[in-house]
Amino acid sequence: MKMSNKGSLIVISGPSGSGKGTVVKALKELMPSIGVSVSATTRAPREGEMDGIDYYYISHAEFEKMIENGEVLEYTTYCGNYYGTLAREAERITGEGRDLILEIEVDGAGQIKKKFPDAVTVMLIPPSLSILETRLRGRGTESEEVIKSRLDRACQEIGCAYDYDYVVVNEDGGVEACARLIKRIIKAENSRSAKMKHIIDNFIDR
Ligand code: 5GP
Repeated sequence: MKMSNKGSLIVISGPSGSGKGTVVKALKELMPSIGVSVSATTRAPREGEMDGIDYYYISHAEFEKMIENGEVLEYTTYCGNYYGTLAREAERITGEGRDLILEIEVDGAGQIKKKFPDAVTVMLIPPSLSILETRLRGRGTESEEVIKSRLDRACQEIGCAYDYDYVVVNEDGGVEACARLIKRIIKAENSRSAKMKHIIDNFIDR
């Protein structure tokens, strides 16, 4: 995938319970021009989720075929299921010169940073371990075993926070504040001199 010199590639990670999905929705409202990539997954849809909106829900065999064909930019297995970013989805958004948001976990974030060193990585974290646990239980959609496995994975993921460019803390009730902060990060990243080449060079090459 070729990155446009206009928009930024922004990776947002955060363990389940960090409120990442809600923050990304709020960010999209604040910045309607950003493109949020819809990933493919082999996990079953949760209640209220829709194919093509929350994820593309596909089978294990289909996912493995896409890996083989090089159709995913990055992928991982998470709690027994595949998750991955579709190259065509990302290319569609970057091709339009828009900011591209990938809402993915740490393993995928590492793969993206390796392929695209200019990618900006943001980790969203809950304010404390006990708040994270309350949030995971409060969702009420998963078994105790799944909750425990998500909690273990969450702590592992937060352990990777130092590899990220930015860490944003999502306090209870802090969705709007997080979205505004991430918007400022994107604006600042898009103001880097390298991103302003199309304007600066007009003055130099006159
Ligand atoms: P959930 O099952 O809660 O929707 O997602 C589980 C985890 O998978 C979350 O941390 C989410 O960010 C991550 N995830 C979703 N899509 C992708 C993807 O395309 N690639 C990777 N690496 N992780 C993803």
